[in-house]
Amino acid sequence: MTAQPDSPAVACTQCGGELHPDEGQIFLTCPYCNSTVYLDKSQVVFHWYLAPTLDEAQGRASLARWMAGNQTVKDLDKKARLVSSTFQYFPMWYFKRRTAAGKESILLEPAAAISISELRSLKLPAGDLRKYDPSLAAQAVEPTAPLDAVSGWLQEKGIPTTELSERALVHLPMYIFKYQFQGKEYTAIVEAGTGSVFANIFPAKAEAPYLLAGGVAALVYLCLATLPLVGAAVDFELYFPLGLGVCFGLGILAAPLLFALAAWVAAKV
Ligand SMILES: [Zn+2]
Repeated sequence: MTAQPDSPAVACTQCGGELHPDEGQIFLTCPYCNSTVYLDKSQVVFHWYLAPTLDEAQGRASLARWMAGNQTVKDLDKKARLVSSTFQYFPMWYFKRRTAAGKESILLEPAAAISISELRSLKLPAGDLRKYDPSLAAQAVEPTAPLDAVSGWLQEKGIPTTELSERALVHLPMYIFKYQFQGKEYTAIVEAGTGSVFANIFPAKAEAPYLLAGGVAALVYLCLATLPLVGAAVDFELYFPLGLGVCFGLGILAAPLLFALAAWVAAKV
């Protein structure tokens, strides 16, 4: 008789039923209550997914709207060249936090490596989570950051593990777009359940031209303001009123020019 390598049984999070995962199996459906669970090294947690509400074309449209928005450089939607688009279900650890004062919130942390850390600010649409469906496996990224490691990291950030009342694995649908702008490649993620766009690094409006325009305006008025002072130093009675007049006159003339400069900069950048 040869001994079968028996993997240890684990208890279902929902009904407590004994689950017997095959070796290496991490995604399970409970045969008793039909819950979908994820088997982390140390624990069994619920496994959910968010269903996409956007198809690829709508994902692109969300990206284009974001590119045309105020955060990015002008006309990025027209100047950027889309390089690739990939759809995947990305794993996030889901924590329900309950503070001692009774305040509840949801925390999300990436469960696999991703360059876009902003994802954790995603607002999950309440009540839209569904039981994970094994047919999604081909598009689902497997978690590589263990739950314990992430809880430990949260603790370091000042969120005690005792405040985490619920943990789950959630697979989020997302389009990952790569695009080129002025020879550099950027990544943007469109979360396909809500249409939210995430990007850590993107071609942002340059600040230098605005600072320059502001600097020019300040310099012009500083020069004008010294005229009455210089006049006063030479001959107060005669030149101070004259300097003051010239200062005001030129100041009024300069205003529309400087305004036009600012408007031009705003239109260009
Ligand atoms: Zn069960």
